Amino acid sequence: MSILDVVNATSRSVNEKTKNMQEVANLKKKIAYERERIVEVFAEIGEKFYNMDPNNQDFSELRVLCDDVNTRKRRIKKMMFSLHNMRGYKICPQCKAEVNGKFKFCGSCGARIPEPDEAEFLDMEGLGFGTESLEEKE
Ligand SMILES: [Zn+2]
Repeated sequence: MSILDVVNATSRSVNEKTKNMQEVANLKKKIAYERERIVEVFAEIGEKFYNMDPNNQDFSELRVLCDDVNTRKRRIKKMMFSLHNMRGYKICPQCKAEVNGKFKFCGSCGARIPEPDEAEFLDMEGLGFGTESLEEKE
């Protein structure tokens, strides 16, 4: 291996790191956006409910908005999952332990770790789309 190969290999891995950091930043931005939208949609739901005629309540519009929130929550969950994955670990859907990204099963409880695009992933709860787990772990 020549010195040039070493230099090339090093700069390649630096490039990959930079690219990864950009992707992480991008994902974080998207997650923040979805979270903001959810707050806005919740406010909209509240206002619509407030302005509703008490004698003629039609919740269909509210249901559409609730579905919108659910879609965004799922989107956030998926992005959180990718985010963890990019940082080299995943979160166990069962016990919430951090699992090495290469592992298919959780080291602490033995649960199978689904891939982000697997259908069962969509049923997973508690991947932290609340306020926690975005800021820490830098
Ligand atoms: Zn586990």
